[in-house]
Amino acid sequence: MPTDSGVDRARLAALFARERSSFAARRPRSAAAHAGADHLFGRVPMTWMNKNAAGFPIYAASARGARLTDLDGHTYVDFCLGDTGAMAGHSPAPVVEAVTRQLADAGGATTMLPTEDAAWVGAELARRFGLPYWSFALTATDANRWAIRLLRAVSGRPKILVNSYCYHGSVDESLIVVGPDGHGMSREGNVGAPTDVTTTSRVAEFNDLAGLERELAHGDVAAVLMEPALTNIGIVLPAPGYLAGVRELTRRYGTYLMNDETHTFSAGPGGATAAWGLEPDVLTIGKSIAGGIPIGAYGLSASLADALTARADLDLVDMGGVGGTLAGNPVSLAAARATLESVLTEEAFAGMIATAAEFATGVRKLIESARLPWSVAQLGARVEYRFADPAPVNGTESAASADPELEDFLHVYLANRGILLTPFHNMALMSPATTLDDVARHHEVFAEALAELTGPA
Ligand code: PMP
Repeated sequence: MPTDSGVDRARLAALFARERSSFAARRPRSAAAHAGADHLFGRVPMTWMNKNAAGFPIYAASARGARLTDLDGHTYVDFCLGDTGAMAGHSPAPVVEAVTRQLADAGGATTMLPTEDAAWVGAELARRFGLPYWSFALTATDANRWAIRLLRAVSGRPKILVNSYCYHGSVDESLIVVGPDGHGMSREGNVGAPTDVTTTSRVAEFNDLAGLERELAHGDVAAVLMEPALTNIGIVLPAPGYLAGVRELTRRYGTYLMNDETHTFSAGPGGATAAWGLEPDVLTIGKSIAGGIPIGAYGLSASLADALTARADLDLVDMGGVGGTLAGNPVSLAAARATLESVLTEEAFAGMIATAAEFATGVRKLIESARLPWSVAQLGARVEYRFADPAPVNGTESAASADPELEDFLHVYLANRGILLTPFHNMALMSPATTLDDVARHHEVFAEALAELTGPA
């Protein structure tokens, strides 16, 4: 019987089993590497790498541009791109040169001293995103954490509000969802929560201004932390007027607004903030802006920076709970400068977005001709398909449309034919190196998968 996803479950299960065994049979070296990693917890460098559709992960041997080659010699068109960390493409030449220059020629990976690159990157981020003052971290998670601490301190309010089924990294305050009774509750999988998340956080559905106002009216929310479009539970785009409404309500209730642009940076060279004329008080970003070298950053508005500076009681220099030894290190900043100056440029974004449009149009056509009740969303250089039509309008709806078996089947089917999608998603990201031929290859394989799923038995 077809389910909500529109596919026959028995046929899906049989196809998935076939694809999994073909995946394993053709990857003996990846399988052996995984089996032999006795002293890695979960046999992987980080436990989330066990989120893979085929029983063991593909081991990368090399990666350049939009291509990745595994230990068994299979080459893939990489639409995962390190879930955005490699949005600039793998090892772009200007980043390799800048990092080599810093490490080998100049010398010094980490010195606890500023380099001139940091000021250049701060100025460039200010130009692109419109926020004048910047600090650096090594991950987007830490950029969020540290900005949250600043906003709690400066506002004197205890709570952070996020959207249901958001993702902002392993930020304790963000692991909350709207429960069936309409109230906030801990998100499933919130491992070792330090405290009941409802004491630190509030939650509202994306695209729900009435729900947001109800929560802000308590007067205890220091900041709303949000992505301008949800990107981690499928892409959920903002309804017309929603983001302007969020800004108006946050101002009315004296709450700071943080835009996490770690993924929505795909919307353009200045992220969704520049593309859609948004005015956050804080902007956080990470992953991609140093071409794959670890970095995070947060930008502050002038009035927020002034308010922080005026607070002589805040220890921002010594013990303040904000900062890390390797944050702002010379290698991160050299890589960020090269990425922003020479790789993720305005021209590059124009090309990436055009490639993504081609990806979205093609997938939409294939879904329509297979008569599947699925939908496609594009956010600049990023495209995602969901097993629901019309497209979900908030995180809870999007979570409800998940079909893990179908998603895993598509991931393995595509991987077996040389296409990598982002795990946890049906998401495809275009780098400056991604070509229309790469997109055409995806469509060819995707069409075969749909034919096997829905065509005559
Ligand atoms: N913010 C957003 C919007 C993200 O998607 C992610 C990671 N997927 C993060 C923050 C955290 O990034 P990291 O794990 O690199 O700290």
